[in-house]
Amino acid sequence: MVIFKKAEGLIRYLLKIKEKGGFVSFVPTMGALHTGHISLLNEANGEGVTSVVSIFVNPTQFNDKSDYEQYPITIDEDITELQENGCDVLFLPSVTEMYPDGDDATPSFDFGYLETILEGAHRPGHFKGVGQVVGRFLDIVQPDKMYIGQKDYQQCMVLTSLIKQKGLQDKVQVVICDTKRAADGLALSSRNKRLTDPQRNVAGTIYQCLVSIRSKAEDGNFKVVHKESVELLEAKGFVPDYVALADANTLELLDEYDSDRKMVALIAAKIGSIRLIDNMLLN
Ligand code: AMP
Repeated sequence: MVIFKKAEGLIRYLLKIKEKGGFVSFVPTMGALHTGHISLLNEANGEGVTSVVSIFVNPTQFNDKSDYEQYPITIDEDITELQENGCDVLFLPSVTEMYPDGDDATPSFDFGYLETILEGAHRPGHFKGVGQVVGRFLDIVQPDKMYIGQKDYQQCMVLTSLIKQKGLQDKVQVVICDTKRAADGLALSSRNKRLTDPQRNVAGTIYQCLVSIRSKAEDGNFKVVHKESVELLEAKGFVPDYVALADANTLELLDEYDSDRKMVALIAAKIGSIRLIDNMLLN
């Protein structure tokens, strides 16, 4: 595995590969890698493909300063894990490398409706930061395929929009990968490393709620399931930000199940200072 800390060196290296007809796949991450991240790398690896993983904790996407400051960093373990899993290139830039002229001078994008609901509403500025950093990564890496996780459902829609806004829809294919979970259903997340044992013991409740919402999609009443889910989460010590039902294609929020549409249930809830998100397609 080759490690680059500077964009210029990486650009030159990848250019040589592309000139020889090589194919580049890209997995953006914020590190503190877990099996979910590695599953993206496994999908990205392949015959004749150069896999590029980035690790960068992007300050511009954190609306909560203490969340940024406490974000887990396990770079030595991450490097070993990537080497063991066949990563070809690790890009490990600094903040000044990513935003050489400051983040205000780095292009940002407008995601309209997506910035006003769910994660957009609860984390003001978050998707602006995500768009900005991935926009910059796309300029540097110029991948043929980018691998991202369904775990961050709304982010997948934002990044698909980013690719269109940058006019790259014919050049970069977005591959959305399944959510990897622990045995109790908890979606793997770097933030899980911060859970105390008692918090970890109840963290699977989010998944239980999603399964319950899905199981009642055929003949249930969402308002009732919603109330039950919120009450269950609160009883286990969570403070829910939202328990939502939406059209899976547009993320239009729905008050009630609608079997004529493809639907997704989405939950965000805090336990102590740790905010967890998850989602599930219903039909
Ligand atoms: P992050 O490091 O949290 O920014 O995540 C980097 C990428 O890994 C994003 O595309 C995430 O959606 C994806 N990811 C995070 N958690 C999981 C998971 N449990 N299963 C699959 N992909 C994931």
